[in-house]
Amino acid sequence: MKLSLPSFLVLGVATAFQAPVAVHRPTSALRVAQEISPEEVAAAQAQLNGNASDSEEESSSTVGLRKEAPAHSKPKSFATKCASLYSPNVGAERGLAPPVYFGSTFLLDDAAHGARLHEKREAPYTDDDGFVYSRWGSPTNEAAALQIAALEGVDDPEKGLGRCLLFNSGMSAITSALQAVLRSGDHVVAPYTVYGGTYEFLTEFADQWGIEVTFVDGAGPQGPENYRKALKENTRVVYTETPANPTMRLTDLEGVGRVVDEFYGKADDKPGTSPHDRVRPYVMVDGTFATPYHQRVLDVPGIDVSIHSATKYLGGHSDILAGSVTSRSEPFLHGCSKVQKIITVPLNPMDSFLLARGLKTLDVRMQRHGENAIKVARMLDEHPMVAQTFYPGLDSHPDRQLSDAIFRSGRDSDDDEYVQTYGGMISFITVGEGDEALRRARNVCENLRVINLAVSLGGVESLCEHPASMTHTMISREQRMAGGLHDGLIRVSIGLEKAGDLVEDLKNALDNCDEDGCVV
Ligand code: PLP
Repeated sequence: MKLSLPSFLVLGVATAFQAPVAVHRPTSALRVAQEISPEEVAAAQAQLNGNASDSEEESSSTVGLRKEAPAHSKPKSFATKCASLYSPNVGAERGLAPPVYFGSTFLLDDAAHGARLHEKREAPYTDDDGFVYSRWGSPTNEAAALQIAALEGVDDPEKGLGRCLLFNSGMSAITSALQAVLRSGDHVVAPYTVYGGTYEFLTEFADQWGIEVTFVDGAGPQGPENYRKALKENTRVVYTETPANPTMRLTDLEGVGRVVDEFYGKADDKPGTSPHDRVRPYVMVDGTFATPYHQRVLDVPGIDVSIHSATKYLGGHSDILAGSVTSRSEPFLHGCSKVQKIITVPLNPMDSFLLARGLKTLDVRMQRHGENAIKVARMLDEHPMVAQTFYPGLDSHPDRQLSDAIFRSGRDSDDDEYVQTYGGMISFITVGEGDEALRRARNVCENLRVINLAVSLGGVESLCEHPASMTHTMISREQRMAGGLHDGLIRVSIGLEKAGDLVEDLKNALDNCDEDGCVV
């Protein structure tokens, strides 16, 4: 029996089986599968199952697709079966969860198709011509990236379309975005309080590659002016992190975008150019703590790049490492895709699936994180063993005047349905100075019973850590203090437990611990 069904139909059905439902743009193969009748699909399925018609004429005329090509026949030998057996069921493409595609490589229509895919300029997503090799993009990764792009608001043609790239960690996202733009001889402006890994990259890698870094106090009303003073002719990146980890200080992004525009003029992105050639620096924001639920930074004039450690709230379950970079700038997206393809690797399929799943509940999780956190923050603010509490929803927060604009709480323009919340991250400074404060803070952290002593944040379970001895220990004490990161500062990521249990847990540790230990 000679199999004669055009390979394109076989490929169409096979690919339809795999097509990610969460991808709102169907692939060409999926479209083909949708255009063919149920009888044709059944014929193709029969062929895949090995009972296809003998007649070449009958199969090809029934199907009537793009072109004739030799079919992939059902393997007969054991070794070939082992290597290539694959029996998709029609209908699997209707599953509501995106399938996980582990394939590193993809079947090509013909050599010309392969050549065409290789000639393309790197971009975050494949176009309707299909995938070639998963280091250049793959379906589950793309499904999750499209979700984040939509949450960041770059799926709206009226505001301007943009795209999202996903990486295997937040640090991978940050370093890829920076490497996309920076070259030896360039200058970066960054805030004092920045995630420890970002600081290490800037001072131990970028610095040695001949890139000069100026650190500034980017928080509060003076922040934009501090950025302005640091700008130079060779500044290529203006980097911000807001809310800042771990101080919870806020940056006036509108102000930063404005001072950069005033200094260099508006951005003039010419598709096809190198991101390094742009005169106006790229303004990048690490908005991990707020997520696009609260803060859609690409809606702010003058902001070019939005970065998140998707390990945190976006994933939401402390079970993946992931990072996202989203932008509307074609030269930047091309440069960043190139770094991803050559150096840093896209987010792997399984973690892309878990990220896509986490994103489905982002809205409800963020609301509950915020409802819980304000209750804990109010208790901390009044506790005699706490010198200062930093939570953007408290009137005592030094940047309170910025927080309602930043924490938009899932609201789309004038939607009043949402209650204003301010996220799940709180930091507070225990009383005392220097070593005494450090010891007291550690004792408090170690005596929590509901809140877990662990770094990271943004998961369903509450976590607590001591930045001066953990996540930010690589930053010199002098610079830590300049950015407001005191020895006695404790950072808490408030989870989804019952708020009363969290309040009680922290109050108990603060009531019973001092610098010498705890009464238990
Ligand atoms: N940015 C911020 C604000 C972070 O808190 C972290 C990690 O804690 C990162 C970036 C790095 O993310 P990842 O650990 O996913 O590499």
